[in-house]
Amino acid sequence: MSNWLIKSEFQLPKGDSGQLILDEIKKFNKDFVNNSNFFRHISQIIYLFANNPWLKQREIKSKLDIDISTLRILNKIIRESEHLQNLITKSGTAKKYWQSISPFCAQLESALKNEFKYPMRIALYPGVSCQYYCGFCGRNQAEKYPSNAIENGNKIFSKILSELDPKNTAISISGGLEPLTNPGIGDIVEFASDHGLRVPLITNGHGLTENFVKKNPKIMKLDSIRISLYGIDEESYEFITTIKKSYKMVKKNCINFLIKRNEENSKIKFGINYIILKENYKNLPKLINFIDEVNNEVKNGPGIDFLSLRDDFDTVTGISDIRDRDKKYHLDGLLTEQDRKELIKLFKNFENDKRLQNLHIDYGYALHPISLGILGKKLTKITDNEMRKYGHTQLSVCVDLYGDVFLYREAGFLNRNGNEKFIIGRVDYKTSFRQVIENFLNNSDGIKSETNDIRFMDPFDHVMTSLINQAEDDKNFGIPFEEGPVALRYYAQKVNLGNSWYKDAF
Ligand code: SF4
Repeated sequence: MSNWLIKSEFQLPKGDSGQLILDEIKKFNKDFVNNSNFFRHISQIIYLFANNPWLKQREIKSKLDIDISTLRILNKIIRESEHLQNLITKSGTAKKYWQSISPFCAQLESALKNEFKYPMRIALYPGVSCQYYCGFCGRNQAEKYPSNAIENGNKIFSKILSELDPKNTAISISGGLEPLTNPGIGDIVEFASDHGLRVPLITNGHGLTENFVKKNPKIMKLDSIRISLYGIDEESYEFITTIKKSYKMVKKNCINFLIKRNEENSKIKFGINYIILKENYKNLPKLINFIDEVNNEVKNGPGIDFLSLRDDFDTVTGISDIRDRDKKYHLDGLLTEQDRKELIKLFKNFENDKRLQNLHIDYGYALHPISLGILGKKLTKITDNEMRKYGHTQLSVCVDLYGDVFLYREAGFLNRNGNEKFIIGRVDYKTSFRQVIENFLNNSDGIKSETNDIRFMDPFDHVMTSLINQAEDDKNFGIPFEEGPVALRYYAQKVNLGNSWYKDAF
C-alpha cells in the first residue's frame, strides 16, 4: 500500500494510499479536500520525511514553494493523523533512523540549551587491551591500559552506574578495546543489572571461552550479547583481524556459550554483528551457513537470535587523516554502487531461506534501504563545521577505564591520535559523573571543531548531532518541532532506548 514511499522519485500516491491521505485531509477540514495543492503538498512532505528525517523546515518551504502559514497547516494535518505518522516513521527507507530518533527527543530541549541532563545512553568501555588489529578500527594499536588501572577503573564504573536512573538512561558495554579483557567484567555486569539496567555487551568473542564463562558466572546477567564476527573462515578472519586461528576460536565460543545459556534457561539474547565491506560482501551466503552450522551444534534449545548487518562507516577505512596511518594495515575503500546492487540480490535471497526463519535481522540505518531494494541512501553524516561545541551530553557519551568521559564514541580509544580534546573530564573518587558533565557545560568554552574531527563520531553520534542541528534550525526558522509534521519529535516516546538489535523499536 505504501510502495510509493520507497520509490526513488516522488510520485503522487494513487489507490489506497491516495485515498487514505484524502480521508485524513477531509477528517481535518472537509473544505481542504477540494484543494489539490494540499493533497500534493501533504503527499510530498510525507514522502520526503519518510526517506530523509533530517530535512529542515526552511528546505521544505523552499522545495514546495509555499508560505510559512500554509506549511504550518500542512504540518498540523500530518502531525495529528496516526495513519500519516505511520507512513512517515514506519514505511519509508528512513525507518531505522526514526526508530533511533524517537526516544532521544525527550531531552532535545536541554541539548539545545546546553543544560545538564544525565545522558540517555552511555557506552562503557572497560576493555584493557585487544587481541585483534581490525582494518577498519580506530584504536591506537600500540596502546593498552596498565593492569594497575583495572581495579580503580571498575570502581569508577560502579560509581557512575549508581548515579543513573534506569528509567532514563540505557547503557551498553563495548569498546574502546575488547571488554572481556577486563577481569572484573562480571562485577560490572552484575552491578548494572542489579541497579535495574538492561546490559547489552558487544565483544569480539575471542575471550568468551568455556573457561572464561565458568570463572565469570556473573556475565549471565547480561540482557544480550553481540559477537562482532570478522569473517566466515580462517582466511577471511585473518584478513580483517590479522590474527591466525581466531575464526575457529570464536565459532567454538559461540557454540559453547549458546549451549551454556540454554542449560541455564537464561534469557540472554545472543547475536552476531557483521560489517559489510567490499572485500567480504560476497561471503554473505557463507555467513548464513556459519549461523546454520552453529545452530546445528546447539542441540539443547534455540541458537543465534539475531544478526545485525552494518555498513562500514569509514572512520579509518579511507584513512582520511594522517594521524590514523600508524596501523598494521587498513582497508582501502568502501562499497561501490555496483556492490550495493549485488547486495540487494543477496538480501533478497534471505527472504526465502528457511534457515533464517527464527532469526531477527537488523540492517541498521544504511542497509535497511538496500534490504527494501533501494540504492543511493548512505549513512547520514554531518560535516566538521556542523559539530556542536558542547557535543550532545544530554543524549550520549562514553566512558573508559580511566573514568575519562568522551563526547563521541570513536574518540573513546586509549590515546587515539587527536582524541584528547573530546575528553570532557575524568570521574574519580571525588568527582562525580554529573560534576564532570556540568563542569564542561557550565565552565568551559566547549570544543572548536577542526578538519577531520568527524572521524571521532560513529553513526549514532552523527544521528544525534543531525537531530539537534535540525531542531535548532527549525526553531530559528519559526517552526519548532512541536509545529512540525512529525509527532514523535515532540511527544517523545519512551521506547527501546538501549538498542534494537534483537527486535524493532516499533
Ligand atoms: S574493532 Fe574491536 S576487535 Fe577489532 S581491533 Fe578494534 S577493538 Fe579490537
